[in-house]
Amino acid sequence: MDDQGPARSPGRQVTSGLIKLSMVLRHQAWQESGKRGLTPTQSQVLAVVAALGRGVTVSSVAQHLSVTKGSASVAVSALEEKDLLRKMADPSDGRVVHLVLTRTGRREAQRSTQWPEVVVQSIGALPDTEQGGFLRGLIGVIRNLQEQGAIPTSRMCTECRFFRPNQNPGQDKPHHCNFIDAAIADADLRIDCAEMEPADADVRPQLLEALFSGHSIDPTRDPDPQGGTRP
Ligand code: SF4
Repeated sequence: MDDQGPARSPGRQVTSGLIKLSMVLRHQAWQESGKRGLTPTQSQVLAVVAALGRGVTVSSVAQHLSVTKGSASVAVSALEEKDLLRKMADPSDGRVVHLVLTRTGRREAQRSTQWPEVVVQSIGALPDTEQGGFLRGLIGVIRNLQEQGAIPTSRMCTECRFFRPNQNPGQDKPHHCNFIDAAIADADLRIDCAEMEPADADVRPQLLEALFSGHSIDPTRDPDPQGGTRP
């Protein structure tokens, strides 16, 4: 390998591409939030409070966004001042404070969860198989970052007790989601699914391994012996 070798490694090339993408995303986030008088962090806080629903605290927001509790707290105070969010004491434990969106906050949260259209279109222009491959790769990277504690746990298919990778080998939709009881393609895999329920900790690596190896998970080590079917 010459001196340029390491810099040309696929890992570094992909990282370089991700950095370019993150610059576009950051620019879009500032532009979109700025139009509404919010910072990107304030926008993200609204989106997280809306996504997590009840019982959200400053700590859970900070954990979800991978920011310090201090940064989350500053953003929450600014959102309170803008009447987009309120703090409410837990009726059963006054020491715990929950974050609740106001009506205007709910509307803003909806806008905050809209994807940057320029990026969505660019990815959507790829063939379906490439989009699926891209998504699989991202899921693998996110999983590895989770393992290192670099990002919080995501509600992904590869963590979910309903996921059956490669249950339909050779088909356009090789996987199966037991929650909706339907076959799903790589491009249908989810990174933040509201219906996700965690599989047992020892099973989660097997789900990822099965997804990448093209094998279905060993039925004798079924991720959910009770069937993992929709409640
Ligand atoms: S419930 Fe959601 S996360 Fe779980 S397998 Fe189905 S689509 Fe994936």
